[in-house]
Amino acid sequence: MLKSDLELFSKNGIKIPNYLIVKPNEKFKLFNAKKYVVKALGKKLIHKSDMGAVKVNVDKENVEIEMRKLRNRLGKNVESFLIQEMADKGTEVIIGAKRDNQFGDVVLFGLGGIHVELYKDVSLRLCPITLNDAYEMIDETKAAVIMKGFRGSVHNDKKMVALLITKVCQIMNKNPDIKEIDLNPVILYSKSYSAVDVRVIR
Ligand code: ADP
Ligand code: MG
Repeated sequence: MLKSDLELFSKNGIKIPNYLIVKPNEKFKLFNAKKYVVKALGKKLIHKSDMGAVKVNVDKENVEIEMRKLRNRLGKNVESFLIQEMADKGTEVIIGAKRDNQFGDVVLFGLGGIHVELYKDVSLRLCPITLNDAYEMIDETKAAVIMKGFRGSVHNDKKMVALLITKVCQIMNKNPDIKEIDLNPVILYSKSYSAVDVRVIR
């Protein structure tokens, strides 16, 4: 994950948490937040949590300690650190897009996090899509049930999510150098969201 990738999303109006990228041993001044997430970044650290490269719920005074621990454990694989503001709990969904040689750009939506691998409950469409197509994509998945408010989960604004799906198609269309986009997870709240993990393959 590069700074330019994070900027691509914030520039396109996609909300990402406050962040700072620092090199190992670089001096830095941390922004204020209640809690932080520290992630080790590097070409070999693709599935970060599988590699133990994500530490959530970190207090300010422990950020540097966690960075050092990650460095000790992962060594040279750590090219930089991403320090993010810790986002609140919510419904985790995935929004992704890929170029298909035969069909064109394909956009994907579904429940995020571990649910992606577990249920393979995702919907796909060819870009460009209308807002209505995006509503349909949401309705085709279990995410729709959870977004309506399921067992204590809060109601998530469907239009907000649908707009986000259409926006991912637009970003693919505007940036021919991008091969793949993965927002996983986007954490949904009732009237807002936070794209806490973004991946771009160019
Ligand atoms: P990866 O997908 O490479 O393993 P992520 O950046 O997606 O790494 O982090 C793994 C998990 O940690 C996410 O699915 C999410 O549940 C949680 N997480 C990551 N970043 C944040 C954040 N800024 N705030 C809250 N939770 C986060
Ligand atoms: Mg992720």
